[in-house]
Amino acid sequence: MRRPLVAGNWKMNLDLPSARTLVGAIREGLDAAVAQRVEVLVCPPAVYLFPLNEALRGCPVRLGAQNLYHEASGAFTGELSGAMLAEAGAKYVIIGHSERRHTIGHLEDDRMVNLKLKAARRAGLTPIVCVGETLSERKSESTLEVLTFQLTAALVGVSVQTPEDLVIAYEPVWAIGTGHNATPQQAQEAHAHLRARLRELVGDVSQEVRILYGGSVTPQNAADIMRQPDVDGGLIGGASLKADSFLAIIRAALAKVT
Ligand code: PEP
Repeated sequence: MRRPLVAGNWKMNLDLPSARTLVGAIREGLDAAVAQRVEVLVCPPAVYLFPLNEALRGCPVRLGAQNLYHEASGAFTGELSGAMLAEAGAKYVIIGHSERRHTIGHLEDDRMVNLKLKAARRAGLTPIVCVGETLSERKSESTLEVLTFQLTAALVGVSVQTPEDLVIAYEPVWAIGTGHNATPQQAQEAHAHLRARLRELVGDVSQEVRILYGGSVTPQNAADIMRQPDVDGGLIGGASLKADSFLAIIRAALAKVT
């Protein structure tokens, strides 16, 4: 059985005192029995990784980064390597988030996603690779084709042997930060498609790889989405910035495995 993963993507939010308060409240509110069954991850702005790693010492909540650069070192002003993020406490890194693919000056195309995925693996980080269609792609009924393309491009030359090697996040672009989540049926269709393509690409380990849903998940809609057989947790933006709502979504993921 796949262990659900609930990951908070804080994006460029919070100052350091509020970040400390938030991880403190998550730590406080996370029942040990829940933490055994559901993996919990927060992805703060990179400059908070070090202090939050200290704050989370001895606690099962893990840290992830929101981005990395694909080179190991050199003249890349302003960038951070996977090794630097790992040293700061990150275990995971988000790659190909739609805000980086589409909003922040088209920084991340499919080739870059592939290079970053390989760099993450070299640094011992588990990549969370985001894929998802835009609204116009959904309207033109090319969603599954887009997902196949993005997944295949991300995995060129990549071997996946264990569930730590890869996490996928299905994040329909039209659902991110909009309040319009995919229906549970839309999510399941996309996730089942991704798992079937993954099987073709990496074989049986596809049954162990977690596929998260992301896009306007709230405590209200989380249970219905998480209940879908191929949904293995969530990548949560806005609702991860409040301990109560993040913890409620973690509990919704727990229902999958109890
Ligand atoms: C995200 O940032 O990955 C995301 C899914 O955001 P939100 O939950 O706010 O839609």
